Amino acid sequence: MAKPVHALGLSLDEAIRFVEDLGERPFRGRQLFSALHQRRVRSFAEITDLPKAFRALLAARAAVSSLALEARYVSADGTRRYLFRTQDGHPVETVFIPEERRDTICFSSQAGCALACDFCLTARLGLRRSLTAGEIVEQIICALNDVYGEASDVPHGTNLVAMGAGEPLLAFEALVKALRIMAAPEGLHIVPRRVTVSTAGIVPRIRQLAEMQDRPHLAISLSAPTDELRDRLMPINRRWPLAELMAACRDFQRSLKPGERLTFEYVMLSGVNDANEHAHQLARLLNQHQLRAKVNLIPHNTAESLPYRPSSDERIEAFQRILEAKGIRAFVRRPRGRDIFAACGQLAARHLSVVSVSNEVRRG
Ligand code: SAH
Repeated sequence: MAKPVHALGLSLDEAIRFVEDLGERPFRGRQLFSALHQRRVRSFAEITDLPKAFRALLAARAAVSSLALEARYVSADGTRRYLFRTQDGHPVETVFIPEERRDTICFSSQAGCALACDFCLTARLGLRRSLTAGEIVEQIICALNDVYGEASDVPHGTNLVAMGAGEPLLAFEALVKALRIMAAPEGLHIVPRRVTVSTAGIVPRIRQLAEMQDRPHLAISLSAPTDELRDRLMPINRRWPLAELMAACRDFQRSLKPGERLTFEYVMLSGVNDANEHAHQLARLLNQHQLRAKVNLIPHNTAESLPYRPSSDERIEAFQRILEAKGIRAFVRRPRGRDIFAACGQLAARHLSVVSVSNEVRRG
């Protein structure tokens, strides 16, 4: 038998067509879509405004879920990490980061990653596969339900960042579709300006993103100001070196809204890319291309198998001051959820001991 359709991967139009193919009228498709995305039900049986026989038919033809929750970790700082397993056995991780004014959900676009950045733990998994739109949307629904409960309102807005495992611009179609589904006012209604997509620098896709009518914000993971160093840290640079990446950023810049900026992320690796000289080179690179940019300095999150140490706070501050003196806005990103392996670059399907998990969860 054909695999059942993932209902969370259907856009509103597709949901309508889907129910029509099953012999129902279009408004049933709208009911289905809003039950799945607005009420965030986790089974067709719960959609009691649909006829019982139709619910049974839906359950035979489609699935509301294709991710199995394998573990859930709660950090001392309130950050939560979810480890899911796809039906074909691949790990998917999602991080919920509570903040005072709004929450951020960091989702994965791929199981594992193909890009082999030398400082990132996810790279060690290699690429398993890209996720589907349904698998992307399901991560967000599960995180919201875990924190706020099914069918309840989310008390404040939610930002999304495609900064979990994988390279989102290499899962382009699924990503764009998932974002469109999540933006629908009949559903989650998380609009593109609440979404940031982070890329290691897939140049043709950066241009494609710029063309999109309603596009998310873009962040570029730079982490080195010269080709010589970036080739070493991020092998993708050999395919699209800095000159090409910067040219794509220049083109992307034309699509920026007033007040919007391109974000550059820079992982701070002690003794590798954090010298004053690197800060000067970075400032020159961004200024030379006249980029309306802001730089996020990310202290490196360590793991025993990674060959780097984080830069000291003083080093990061000195680096930041140089950028600012050159007219570039620079911020230091405080790591969240390091204790549960939920911070940047730490998503590698790690299991923590079950005892500490249940304690943590009770505390959270
Ligand atoms: N592939 C995309 C999405 C991953 S986002 C990208 O590269 O942008 C993850 C962010 O975490 C990237 O900016 C990456 O550079 C950063 N990162 C990776 N490993 C890290 C580590 N060990 N410590 C801190 N940040 C890390």
